[in-house]
Amino acid sequence: MQRLATRPAFDVEKVRKDFPILDGRVWCKPLVYLDNAATSQKPRAVLEAIDRFYREHNSNVHRGVHWLSAAATRDYEGARDKVRAWIHAATREEIVFTRGTTEAINLVARSFLKPRLARGDEILVTEMEHHSNIVPWQLVCEETGAKLRVVPIDDRGQLLFDEKLLTPRTRLFAFVHVSNALGTVNPARELVRLARARGVPTLVDGAQAVPHLRVDVQALGCDFYAFSSHKLFGPTGIGVLYGRKALLDEMPPYQGGGEMIKRVTFEKTTWNDLPYKFEAGTPDIAGAVGLGAALDYLSTLDWDALHAHEQALLDRATEGLSAVKGLRILGTAKEKAALVTFAMDHVHPHDIGQILDQEGVAVRTGHHCAQPVMDRFKVPASARASFAFYNTLAEADAVVAALAKVRELFP
Ligand code: PMP
Repeated sequence: MQRLATRPAFDVEKVRKDFPILDGRVWCKPLVYLDNAATSQKPRAVLEAIDRFYREHNSNVHRGVHWLSAAATRDYEGARDKVRAWIHAATREEIVFTRGTTEAINLVARSFLKPRLARGDEILVTEMEHHSNIVPWQLVCEETGAKLRVVPIDDRGQLLFDEKLLTPRTRLFAFVHVSNALGTVNPARELVRLARARGVPTLVDGAQAVPHLRVDVQALGCDFYAFSSHKLFGPTGIGVLYGRKALLDEMPPYQGGGEMIKRVTFEKTTWNDLPYKFEAGTPDIAGAVGLGAALDYLSTLDWDALHAHEQALLDRATEGLSAVKGLRILGTAKEKAALVTFAMDHVHPHDIGQILDQEGVAVRTGHHCAQPVMDRFKVPASARASFAFYNTLAEADAVVAALAKVRELFP
């Protein structure tokens, strides 16, 4: 008999053991955690790395000649090297630690874009952006007289991109790689290519992409890429701005303070080298260590198998939810990450969230910081079940079963 070479399936039960919080005994009650797009859970390796840092190496970075400071600096800069390798940036100077995606985008808005903007210039975003990829641009628009232009989306939640939206006045195209509200995976490489062909710089909001996809910033070709550690199984309080070195070199500092300077006098101050020019003050050293540990952990996983598992979760949840009477899924793009946003006739999403909570299922309800998406689909709010690789098919079934209860209460 001929044997087909099949790859091993993703061992979800094995990875679940790596996440202490997923052990139901922590809560003394079962919980199906499907709010991973808001923040993901942390593997033991991350918790232990942070603990070990504070126990054994805690000190400030780049400052002391003493060995403890040297050890902390090695940990912190080692994390930068891990991030560089993970997203395949060309050099470590291109990795700026920020507080998260939001701060990374604000940094680009202030330091890169604002000095380049004149009245009538345009910033292109899409209709499916998170507020943090809308409001920072609006703030610089207000200050400069530039204006936002928006790529619309179709009824499935896919971009209706028209090259005419890239005009001679477009100074930046900022778009989300994976939508937190719809799950849509945008064709980032192609969009960057089209923008670059017109000399338009690009910023990609990768907050929801990095937990699901392997990202290679050089292959994407974007000028900036932003993401948060806490959605990538690392700690809160830290994130990353990748920026092309030639652009970062030209940009003025974002904040002033210690660390970002070379020489300070009352007459004139000169800036530190990259990436320190953008890291004023004491950074989140333990956060960087935790993020580095998350990347080490993630590199032990088989990402092809992980992806197949997540797509199976998405298919199972989509199929189950589609059968619930009066339930409408928002976002049915061909390329989708493992999250399902939905609205139900005659039920407020807040009630859905509460009933699901009583049934032991944690989902997000509200506008998901994407009000223009809610407007596009003509709902004030919605519910969202978002999966991570440690979720099981039984958990996808659990949300469907809990929704049957909602329907029972709101027939
Ligand atoms: N962009 C997207 C697509 C997001 O999902 C989020 C977080 N919900 C953000 C940006 C903002 O990330 P943070 O709050 O970590 O800065």
